[in-house]
Amino acid sequence: MSDWVPDEDVSRLIRKYALQNALQYDGKGQVGSVQGRVLGENIELREQAQFLYAIITPMVEEANNIWAEKGADEVRRILEEEAPEALEKRVKERREGLPELPNAVDGQVVLRFAPNPNGPLTLGHSRGVIINSEYARMYSGKIILRFDDTDTKIKRPDVQAYDWIHDDFTWLTGSNPDIVIEASARMDTYLEFAQQFISEGHMYVCTCSAEDFRELRVSMKNCPCRDNSNSDNLTKWEKMNDAVDGFSEGEAVVRVRTSMDNKNPALRDWPALRIQTAPHPKVGDTYRVWPLLDFQSAVEDHEQGVTHIIRGKDLMDSTRKQQLLYDKIGWSYPETLYWGRVKVHEFGGFSTSQMKKDIQSGQYTGWDDPRLPTLRALRRRGYDAGAMREFWIDMGLTQKDISVPMSTLNSLNAKAVNAEAPRLSFVREPVSIWLDLSDCEPPTKVTLPVHPEYPDKGVREWPLREGAIKVKIAREDFTSREGRRLKDFADIGIKHQKTMRGWEGEISRFERVGNTPIIHWLPSNMAKPAVLLLEEDGELIEAEGLLEINDYPVGTVVQLERMGFARIESDEAMIWTHS
Ligand SMILES: [Zn+2]
Repeated sequence: MSDWVPDEDVSRLIRKYALQNALQYDGKGQVGSVQGRVLGENIELREQAQFLYAIITPMVEEANNIWAEKGADEVRRILEEEAPEALEKRVKERREGLPELPNAVDGQVVLRFAPNPNGPLTLGHSRGVIINSEYARMYSGKIILRFDDTDTKIKRPDVQAYDWIHDDFTWLTGSNPDIVIEASARMDTYLEFAQQFISEGHMYVCTCSAEDFRELRVSMKNCPCRDNSNSDNLTKWEKMNDAVDGFSEGEAVVRVRTSMDNKNPALRDWPALRIQTAPHPKVGDTYRVWPLLDFQSAVEDHEQGVTHIIRGKDLMDSTRKQQLLYDKIGWSYPETLYWGRVKVHEFGGFSTSQMKKDIQSGQYTGWDDPRLPTLRALRRRGYDAGAMREFWIDMGLTQKDISVPMSTLNSLNAKAVNAEAPRLSFVREPVSIWLDLSDCEPPTKVTLPVHPEYPDKGVREWPLREGAIKVKIAREDFTSREGRRLKDFADIGIKHQKTMRGWEGEISRFERVGNTPIIHWLPSNMAKPAVLLLEEDGELIEAEGLLEINDYPVGTVVQLERMGFARIESDEAMIWTHS
């Protein structure tokens, strides 16, 4: 059945993993798992995977028999002699997940992921979703999805983004958040606390201009408003909320009374609430005074009993500000952990507001444009949520700023989607070649595996007509004058002279002999027109070509022979995932 035989190194590798697997699974080593390991160390063997399976099977049986007849110690003894490293490897194999959370009580941990819904989530945001929900899972705790949507002016909420984010969250984690909160729906709570804190003297209304206060902050001097009585402040508070005779936007803010000589200028009487007259897309103009993020988040974390906050180290000042407020009121602040920035090379320069502008100007086709780092785009391209989880959990909680290439995620993704991705042939910019089969003894059909590493997934069959057949090959494979092997079929030579019916070629042989370069191809009766949407040098291209006829449903991630992964978008369109 096979004209391929493994060399000595590969045979030794198969035996090593067969023995190791027998040991690991108490005499029930699995062919698939041994094959996975062998291929993991020898990617080039993928081409031979269908033969490999037949070779591995008896070796796994043999190893299992040794275990059954002579016991685990005998298997261990052989390994010690032939491949001692296989014994050591088992110990190190278990990956450690995330580090323990400080002061975490099983069943009582509460964490939150709190995005601003001014656009959909990006790959960068997915870190917060994954790490927080992973910790909630580790401690059988709760994860809150909280929309921090109280900025109506600069980072205005986008009404559609709430659903997008919720949907991305569920996709990434595989389950719904335990609690969903929209800060704009909790405004009464924030305003009640603000009024209470003002009446208790923890906060005051400041009517200094922004510029004046900046100077006071630099010179560490109290502003005159600081001496007003609590009841004066409550009157001014009412004026802030009064749309008719009250203060205008920018005329008054509520400040937390910390101290004006704090070493850190950011903490000096920091602003907690301000007037915003721009209507909110969800609650309209019901409210006039809106909390700033540090105040809103401080109150909500307390109200929800958040026990652990994980945030970027650039937000250490937020922790310090909130801590000062908590200390005044006598609340206890959650445990806080920090991480450094992670930059994915390819997506370094994107921000949500810039993407929004560029989509509006037509530079991108939408939030799911495959050139963008949004989860909507990555999901559309066929990325796997499990691969993203692995990507971020592997990265852990380091405070170092790190920069990673997309290829790191891509190789995790390839591992995740490979097993379920059937092979298909796609011929880009096809050229037709006539092959005359009348002088040789051709097979009646070409048989190819659905998945070369999993023979049990069955085969694809391409029937061949008698006489002359028309085959399609990619333009880039056509231009070369060297011999070519049509994958799993025959070596051919192309006559670079056009005859009446087009280009012609001739069959040299059907057997695989030597190293003739392999190209992918399609017989014309198995091909249908299709486009592949992909990015090339920043441009979006609809590459035209011929796709092997198939009946996989929309959404299937396939592997295009000798190219890479793509997701089926319709009967005649695919989108590129990665190679
Ligand atoms: Zn003032």
